[in-house]
Amino acid sequence: MKAALLKEFGADLVIEDVTLGNPAHNEVRVQVAATGLCHTDLHFMRGHLPLSVPAVLGHETAGIVQAVGAGVNYLKPGDHVIGCLSAFCGCCDMCLSGRPSICEDGDSLHRNSDEPPRLSSGGRPVQQFMNLSGFAEEILVHENALSKVDTAMPLDRAALIGCGVMTGWGAVTRTAQLRAGESVAVFGCGAVGLSTIQAARLAGALNIIAVDLNVDRLAMARKLGATHIVNPKETDPVDAILAETGGKGVEYAFDAVGNPKLVEQCFLSTRKGGTTIMIGLMGLDEKVALPFGHFIAERKVMGCDMGSNQFRVDMPRLARLYMDGRLNLDDMLTDRLPLSRINDGFAALDRGEGIRTIIDFGLE
Ligand SMILES: [Zn+2]
Ligand SMILES: [Zn+2]
Repeated sequence: MKAALLKEFGADLVIEDVTLGNPAHNEVRVQVAATGLCHTDLHFMRGHLPLSVPAVLGHETAGIVQAVGAGVNYLKPGDHVIGCLSAFCGCCDMCLSGRPSICEDGDSLHRNSDEPPRLSSGGRPVQQFMNLSGFAEEILVHENALSKVDTAMPLDRAALIGCGVMTGWGAVTRTAQLRAGESVAVFGCGAVGLSTIQAARLAGALNIIAVDLNVDRLAMARKLGATHIVNPKETDPVDAILAETGGKGVEYAFDAVGNPKLVEQCFLSTRKGGTTIMIGLMGLDEKVALPFGHFIAERKVMGCDMGSNQFRVDMPRLARLYMDGRLNLDDMLTDRLPLSRINDGFAALDRGEGIRTIIDFGLE
């Protein structure tokens, strides 16, 4: 099967034939319909975060189950599924405390080193990325990396739910646990930020203040539920957020980009007792500096791993919200490319064009 291989950091992906194994115990083989291009892939392509190569990236993916290994009861061939990088073991303290997105035994979801690799090329192992590797015609994954969805859900839009939408939705409903009438600020209006805005709208937020430098994205934020938009080229975002909230600030501020300066602006935008939620990815050793004085009134800062998701509960709900016309994914899917043009897609992502591009495997 064809896959986009990362062989060298900073270089283009290379389309090559890769061999996929057969499903072993608890494994599922899925024909990929669509996989989204996410900034996280770009971070790894550039070597900002650790990864061994060659590897197949892609972690926002949906498709149709082709075959299941022994012991798989949750899925059968023909089921439609969305992948999630938050594969869970189901047995550790975090999984059993209702926090499977920070599962402590992810290793149990991989094959052992004495077993044949799931992915290989010319007889040599290829690194599977985040238990998924969706830039390929098929994936072979642990069943706990998949959520079943209604077959009526279009698979291209289902793919978006796999990372960006799940993360933004989860940041509001699970990490923040926003209550109706509370206010939010969202820094960054890409796929994750726009999903955060939509979740805040659906959860009944009072003020939803969107911050971005790009006027098109701000217009989309407004369309998807932002009550106020702020362009930092024109206004200081902290001043604007305080002004919109009677000088008090918001209950929750989300950094949907991954930038120390934005985390600081988020923190300064929260009201007493408010919480800054860091959704976006940064370098693992990146430092964030925050003024102590602002902590005195019990303001909080916290991480957010894929929106603290419980994805087998959340993803079918998100699909239903889309099919009921309450979650807008159509405007977020701004381009579709065949696998052979994946590097064009990443170049456009890097230039900040569009919201979400998918690799559509029906186009090859
Ligand atoms: Zn992602
Ligand atoms: Zn676990």
